[in-house]
Parts: sequence; structure tokens; C-alpha cells
Amino acid sequence: MSKIDNTLTSFIDIAADSDFSIHNLPYGIFSNAKDAADNNKRRAGVAIGEYVLDLAVLEAEGLLSLEGGPYFDQPTLNAFIDSGRDNWTQARSTIQTLLSSVSDTLRDNQDLQKKVLLKQADVTMHLPVHVPGFTDFYSSKEHATNVGTMFRDPNNALLPNWTEMPVGYNGRASTVIVSGTDVIRPSGQLKPNADDRPIFSACKRLDFELETAFVVGKGNSIGQPIAVDNASEHIFGMVLLNDWSARDIQKWEYVPLGPFNAKTFASEVSPWIVTMDALAPFKTACPIQEPKPLAYLNEKDSNNSYDIHLSVELLPENSDSATVVCETNFKHMYWSMAQQLTHHTITGCKVEVGDMMGSGTISGPTPDSYGSMLEIAWNATKPVTLKGGKTRSFIEDGDTVIMKGYSEKDGIRVGFGEVRGKVLPALNFDFNK
Ligand code: CA
Repeated sequence: MSKIDNTLTSFIDIAADSDFSIHNLPYGIFSNAKDAADNNKRRAGVAIGEYVLDLAVLEAEGLLSLEGGPYFDQPTLNAFIDSGRDNWTQARSTIQTLLSSVSDTLRDNQDLQKKVLLKQADVTMHLPVHVPGFTDFYSSKEHATNVGTMFRDPNNALLPNWTEMPVGYNGRASTVIVSGTDVIRPSGQLKPNADDRPIFSACKRLDFELETAFVVGKGNSIGQPIAVDNASEHIFGMVLLNDWSARDIQKWEYVPLGPFNAKTFASEVSPWIVTMDALAPFKTACPIQEPKPLAYLNEKDSNNSYDIHLSVELLPENSDSATVVCETNFKHMYWSMAQQLTHHTITGCKVEVGDMMGSGTISGPTPDSYGSMLEIAWNATKPVTLKGGKTRSFIEDGDTVIMKGYSEKDGIRVGFGEVRGKVLPALNFDFNK
């Protein structure tokens, strides 16, 4: 399953640097202008080159029949994902064959192509799943070390629990939003002066967090933890995640129960779920874990991470070109997704199909690979100069943040596309009205 078949090609013309090769086939939910007039109807598709393959039509035409279906003429992918791994495998193989250059069913049928292949430029993408729960981990050692160095003690940057467990918290599923959604600058309690009471203000230290999130593909029963060596069976795929953060709100509110308002206004995800089957050829080892984790977190498979190149671009308003402010890789993550899921459920916590679990900010070892402005500009002491001369320590109104990710090997590319979000000014509050 994890070997790349270089001979597999599509009859569709796909650019060599396209994220959406025939080896990828990520799932998303889309609509076009006609659907908007039809009760905002949404349905499922797969990205291929510059196109979306309409799975609802394929299903209606009898070209994609899955056990227990139909699944794709629906506004979310939850029912398909919940139908199980056998269907995931069959759908992938059927779709890959239909799109391949050796199969004539779609290749030689222009009418069918017109019905099932839509230009991505002509559709609107939506959240791919209903998200019952959103969890945010903190699993990059470099990120945790940088933050601990800045705010606590460079000699003891990591708290003692950090190397023993994937530290995390339960976030808000209701504010998981899809790429392209504008983000209103949040307001809340800030405490600029240690000796004074807090003030109510617009956030002055708005930041992005470069993350990925995995999508739970199979839940568990309450009281029944997921064993670490079975955990990968419970993961359907991954998306890019910009976990927007209000650093100054967080600094004052987080004691003693952790982040609250600072993290619950926008967790923005890319629209295409790249499946673990598509990412399998890019598996690689996690960093060495020292001390060796407790038995329940100890995986047999040390090849439990993925080689995924990640980047962040910043585009100020009325600016022609974006500046790359970070390039890093998912493989730097200290804790694996399997370990995160097992730790999450070890007390018996129930997870559900569609739950999203954020990796935590993914920082690499060098300053150009840090995954947040907090680290890149080192707590506003080293502002970044953008193309055109503007500088940034945090994100300003009108700025657009763009995150991209892809895996590449032997000339084969499997990518995520992007997650893109623009910051709008804070609301005007008038409490005397
Ligand atoms: Ca986060």
C-alpha cells in the first residue's frame, strides 16, 4: 500500500507541481452557483488537477457503488467516513481507476466528463465534515521550548509533563471554519500593566499557528480507550489548520485552566481532507523520544510520522506579493498522531467521526522554520520585514495568512492545497447603549 506506482497516470492534464495528482484524491464538500439557488445544496467531490470530480453524480450514474450507500449527495462526509475502512479503500480504488489513462469509462465519454468534472475555480468549498469535537495538542518540542524560553526559564523551558505525554486541551468545534472565511479581530481582557487592573480592548497580538489536524475516521465507546497500535485505524485523513490565537488575551486568562477565549474565535482548516492512504508513501520516523514513553504510549511502529513540507505566507492588504515567513516540516513533531489519539482516550474519553485534532504549532529547529509570529518575531523583539518594506511582529488588520503543505517523493506529489484567512478590524463595542 505504501509503495508509489510511478506508472499510474490520469487522462486529465495535471501540472507536475499540482497538489492534486492521481495519487492524492482528497475529499471535500462543494457547491456551485446553481446549488446556491437550490437551497444551498452541497455535495462531495474529489480534487484532481484543476478539477473537482463530482462524486454525487458518479454515484447516481452507478459508477461508484459502496456498501450501505449512497453517501455523496450530502453536505458533509461524515456518513461516508463512518461507513468504514472497506468503503474508503473501495472508493479510492474505484475513483483512481476511473481517472486513470488506462480506463475508457470516463476517458472516452465526453458527455460524462462534462457532468462529473467541474473547474475548481467555479465552485465554492465548504467545511468537509460536521465537527463534533475539536482538540488542540502542543506536540512540537521546538515550539514548546521556544515559548517556555520566552515566558519562563530558558534553562527549564519544557515543563516536566511535556516529555511524558502529548499535552492538549479541548477546544471549540463550533468555531472550526473553512479556508477563505474572514476572521474578525477578537476583543477581550488584556493586562498591559502588571500592577493595574485589566482593560477591555481589541487584541493587539493576533497570531497564526501553523498546524495540521487529523480527522477521526472511527470512534470508540465511552470507557474504552484506543490502543496505540490500533490508533492509526481510527484516523481518516489530515487537513492544514491555522489555529488563530490572541496571545495577549491568552497571557492573562490562561491561569489555571488553560486557554479559553484566546483560542475560540477561529480555527481555520483547508477544505480538502488528504487521506492517510494517500499519505502512506511519505511515512517517516518521529524524533527519538527520550525518556521512552510509558507503555500505553509506546508504539511498535517507529515509522509513525509523515514527511510533509509546510509553509506560511503573509500578504498585507493592497500588496502585490506574499512573503514566505516560515518553512518547516510535519516530521519535526515529537508526539505522533497515534500517541495523541491514545492519550486523548486513555481515561475512556469518547471520540467521534469528524472530530478534528490539531497537532499544535509545528516549529522546526531554525528561526526560518518557526510556526507562529510569536516565535518568528521573538515576542516582538525581532520584527519581520516583508516584501515592499512593511514590518510585522503580529498580524495586522487586512493581512491575509496563507498556509500550504505537500509531500513529494520520486516525482509524485500529494498536497493539501491551502488554508487562507484574512483579518478584519475588531467590532466597535459601545457598552453604554
Ligand atoms: Ca494550537
